[in-house]
Amino acid sequence: MADKILIDMIKLRDAMVEDSSIILPEAVFYPSRNMNGLKTIRELATFRFSCRKCEDAPCISVCPSDALEKDEEGIIERHTNLCIACKSCVTICPFGTMMTDFFAHHRNKDLMFDLTDEKALHKFIKACPEGTVTITDIDETPDKNIYRLNEKVMIKDYLYITEKL
Ligand code: SF4
Ligand code: SF4
Repeated sequence: MADKILIDMIKLRDAMVEDSSIILPEAVFYPSRNMNGLKTIRELATFRFSCRKCEDAPCISVCPSDALEKDEEGIIERHTNLCIACKSCVTICPFGTMMTDFFAHHRNKDLMFDLTDEKALHKFIKACPEGTVTITDIDETPDKNIYRLNEKVMIKDYLYITEKL
């Protein structure tokens, strides 16, 4: 088996726009008996790659639970133990960065896959819209909008880069 998967966030977003009733499967790399509330790969990828990293981030200001903060790299982090899934941050984000289904507290276990398990990984690929998740051996290739999320996951997305003056 190849070491990595490639998640095409651009195609995933298109699939959600084409069919608003679609419920995307979730993937995590942190096995747990209770996977409710875990941050999924899609959420981690979104905050790392497509979030504009606003200086005075309105998502942080609006959060009634102080659940959002920036890490040392300026990447938004959501504390799932504090988040009450009010979705105020989704509404206020001027760039539509966040998807409302990130905040579902009651996830369908049939749609949650632990990618440390090879069988689950293949089931995850099958459960995703066709062509959005593939096995890959590709390395980071910015020309193709492909970036490394972690040792197991490559993400294809438009990277937002702040221009330094
Ligand atoms: S959904 Fe969670 S993170 Fe977003 S504003 Fe509400 S409590 Fe804060
Ligand atoms: S408001 Fe949106 S784009 Fe700005 S930091 Fe928050 S999630 Fe990122």
